[in-house]
Amino acid sequence: MCAVEKQIMAAKTIQPIPSAQPKKIFIRHAAPDRSQRARHIVQVVFLLLNAWLGFQFYLWTRYFERGASGIRVSRPPGIEGWLPIAGLMNTKYLLLTGHVPQIHPAAMFLFIGFMLMSVLLKKAFCSWLCPVGAFSEFLWKAGRRIFGRNLRLPRWFDFPLRGLKYLLLGLFVSVIGVMSAAALQDFMATPYGLVADVKMLNFFRNIGLTAAVVIGLLILLSTLIQNFWCRYLCPYGAIMGLASLLSPVKIRRDQQACIDCGKCAKACPAQIPVDKLVQIRSVECTACMECVAACSTQDALQFALPPRRADTPADRWRRRALTPLAVCGVLAYIFLAVVLFARTTNHWQTNLPQSVYIQLIPRANQLTHPGM
Ligand code: SF4
Ligand code: SF4
Repeated sequence: MCAVEKQIMAAKTIQPIPSAQPKKIFIRHAAPDRSQRARHIVQVVFLLLNAWLGFQFYLWTRYFERGASGIRVSRPPGIEGWLPIAGLMNTKYLLLTGHVPQIHPAAMFLFIGFMLMSVLLKKAFCSWLCPVGAFSEFLWKAGRRIFGRNLRLPRWFDFPLRGLKYLLLGLFVSVIGVMSAAALQDFMATPYGLVADVKMLNFFRNIGLTAAVVIGLLILLSTLIQNFWCRYLCPYGAIMGLASLLSPVKIRRDQQACIDCGKCAKACPAQIPVDKLVQIRSVECTACMECVAACSTQDALQFALPPRRADTPADRWRRRALTPLAVCGVLAYIFLAVVLFARTTNHWQTNLPQSVYIQLIPRANQLTHPGM
C-alpha cells in the first residue's frame, strides 16, 4: 500500500468528534419589548417636572430680586435635587448627629432616595430619571442620526478617562470627609450656603464666556460620543455606580437560551460586552435595558434577581425578572416615599424668614464660597 492510500484509509477510520455545544435554537420573544417606551415616558415626565420646578424657582427668585414685588410663588424644595453636594454634606450631618439639617433638607432626602434606587436597581436613576442623562441620550442619538454612528474612544484612552469622574468624586468626598458636624452646619448657614440654589440658577442665567465654551464643548462631545458627560465626568454617576455594586437586580444572560448573536453588546451605550457575560456587575451599567430591548430571543436576557435552579430558562426566570412596569413602580415608590416622608415630618422645606431672602437674593452674585 502506497503512502497516499495509507492516509486515505486513516482518514476513513477517524470518528467525528461530537460537538461540545448542542446547537442552539432561536425562539423569538412572544411579546414585544416595551422597556424603551416605558423608560422614555419616565424620562419625559421627569424632564417636565424639572422644567416646572425650574420655572417656579425662577419666579420665586425674581420676586425677591424685585424687592419682594411681582408674582409671588412658594419656593419649590424639589429644586434641591440639583444640589448634590449639599445632599452629600447633609447626609453626613444626619449620620453624625442623627438630626435632619435645617438648610436644604430636600437635597439630602433626594440624594438618599437616588442612592437607594442605585442600591436596588443599578444606576437606573441615570437612564430613567436624570434630566442630564436624558439630554445626553438625546444628543448621542441625534449625533448617530446625523453622522451615521457614534465614536468609540480606544480602550487605552477610554479606561483612564473614565477614572476622571472618580477623581472629581474623591475631591468632594475628601473635602466633606474632614468636616465635622459643626463645620457642615456652619457652611450651610453662611450666606453662600443659604442661597446655593439661587447661585446655581444665576450660573446658568448669567453664563460667562468660559462656561459657555465649556458647555458648548460638552454638548459637541456628547453628540459624538455616547453619554460623554455621564461616562467620563459625572461625580454623581460615579457615586451611584459604586452603590450599584450592591444591587441584587442586574442584567443577566441565560447561556442556554442565548444564541450568541451579539445584538445586546452592540446596543449597549455603556459599551459593555453583554453577550460575553452572565451577569453585568459593571459600575457603568445604567439599567437602561437597551440590551434587553435589542435581544429578540425568548428568555435570553433579563433585568432580574439571581435565577432559580431549574432545567429550563423560563423556569429559571420565573418571578425573578423585572418587567419595565415593575422598574417604573420601584422607582416611583422610592421617589414618592422619600418625598412624602420628608413632607409629613415637616423636613421638606428650608424654613427661613423672608427677610433673609430679601437681603441675600438680590446680591447673590456677590456672595463667594466661604473657603475662598
Ligand atoms: S448592560 Fe444593558 S442595561 Fe446596562 S447599560 Fe448596557 S444596555 Fe443598558
Ligand atoms: S442579544 Fe445578546 S443575550 Fe440576546 S441572544 Fe443575542 S447575544 Fe444572546
